[in-house]
Amino acid sequence: MPSIFTHIINKEIPCYKIVENDLFIAFLDINPNAKGHTLCVPKQEINKIFDMPEKRYLDLMKFSREVAVALEKTVPCKRIGMSVIGLEVPHVHVHLIPLNDMKQMTFQHKVSQSDTEFKALAKKIANNLI
Ligand code: 5GP
Repeated sequence: MPSIFTHIINKEIPCYKIVENDLFIAFLDINPNAKGHTLCVPKQEINKIFDMPEKRYLDLMKFSREVAVALEKTVPCKRIGMSVIGLEVPHVHVHLIPLNDMKQMTFQHKVSQSDTEFKALAKKIANNLI
């Protein structure tokens, strides 16, 4: 069965997209730890990050870095945290989380945002991509 992210990639489910290319897509996490919490996802559905071919893994890191730089320009924070988990969605994704506090990396504290806020934020981050 395709993952929820494959449905997003195939445009069967909407997302607040920041950017995509042939191999990867970045969009806002729907249940963010902090405003700007972003997921960078390979279009090929692979369960575990370290099962990716090395080149594709390195390309994902490059893509994630580009998004993280734009994110840090957009959302006031001390730094961008990065995490890979995949216990909820077994389709590789890199979490990029604007951090001011360690608790924002725990996935126990969530922030709510309106549809309008999500849309505006995704657009602002996209505009800050190099
Ligand atoms: P993990 O698999 O790394 O534990 O977490 C999966 C992440 O995907 C969670 O932070 C969750 O909020 C996010 N997520 C789950 N379903 C959706 C969805 O349909 N859209 C978006 N944008 N994010 C999702």
